[in-house]
Amino acid sequence: MLEIKIIKSNEKKPHPPSDALGFGQYFTDHMFLMTYDEGVGWHDPIIKKYEDMKFDPSACVFHYGQEMFEGLKAYRREDGGFNLFRPEMNARRTNNTNDRICLPRIPEEDFVQAIRELVSVDQDWIPDGPGTSLYIRPFIIATEPTLMVHPSRQYLFMIILSPVGAYYSEGLKPVKIFVEDEYVRAVKGGVGEAKTGGNYGASMRGQKRAKELGFAQVLWLDAIERKYVEEVGTSNIFFKINGEVITPNLSGSILPGITRDSSIQLMKSWGMKVTERMITIEEVWEAANNGTLEEVWGTGTAAVISAIGALSYKETLLEINDNKIGRTTQKLYDTMTGMQYGSIEDPFGWVIKG
Ligand SMILES: *Cc1c(COP(=O)(O)O)cnc(C)c1O
Repeated sequence: MLEIKIIKSNEKKPHPPSDALGFGQYFTDHMFLMTYDEGVGWHDPIIKKYEDMKFDPSACVFHYGQEMFEGLKAYRREDGGFNLFRPEMNARRTNNTNDRICLPRIPEEDFVQAIRELVSVDQDWIPDGPGTSLYIRPFIIATEPTLMVHPSRQYLFMIILSPVGAYYSEGLKPVKIFVEDEYVRAVKGGVGEAKTGGNYGASMRGQKRAKELGFAQVLWLDAIERKYVEEVGTSNIFFKINGEVITPNLSGSILPGITRDSSIQLMKSWGMKVTERMITIEEVWEAANNGTLEEVWGTGTAAVISAIGALSYKETLLEINDNKIGRTTQKLYDTMTGMQYGSIEDPFGWVIKG
């Protein structure tokens, strides 16, 4: 148990209207901080006013990118309370990321406790419009003031909160995706399976080009052969081919998504065949050409499930399911969001009341 000191802000920011939230544009009144010093460990957890901060310009994070982040949401229930969805999975993944990039571990229960207490303090910020939620962003940065290249001896663990809008204001609309065969996101042995900012820095160039060409996101291929499907933008990807659901296995360069894991478990519980294996982009095209490609979708906390209506690869455009939302895509979305908001029963014990 952490003994979190709480200093309430005496300023209350105005709340934006719930139909104009967007994503990550507004922040609540408070934030959580906890400091780490080598030889002392994590200490002085505090919830205080959300405000600007001061850092030494030589702080490690600015130069060598030693940082990690997480993302999850608090959902407003009908009865006014809030739900969290599998927060212990974010805690576990945090420590996997931390191990990979030499950040100090945080006890899982402390991580979840800090989230619960911060969300409780700012719970009037959880929006209640349909599809809206309070996005939770835990992150750790290396703060030791030095240009020496070594794991920092000081860190800051922080949590900030942002009320976010419905990802799909006009319902689940399929998106167009650009298959990137020049730039890559991650390579086995690298940090692709860690949730660290560097992966996003590396992905900007490809994302920018895809946007310029009129696509919503990039589908990344493996870094060695540019052949195997990895993930799409900031989501994991699923294909339904001839009744079977296929998703790339966690090979080391793919982020182990919690929505991915939940989707796999849900579909298996519905008696569907789900296979985690390597899949080439050619196989996807072949399936489309012989009429067995039924659905393609992405999974991630921000959008939950996003239908993919078209893929573009080497100048050919593939339309999927007549650019309509498939049955499994829709069922996954309805079930997962239903559980998160508390309107559908959760037989897995995933939903935690705040
Ligand atoms: C966070 C993330 C995902 C999705 O993970 P969820 O736990 O489902 O939100 C997928 N890919 C990348 C690169 C990510 O950073």
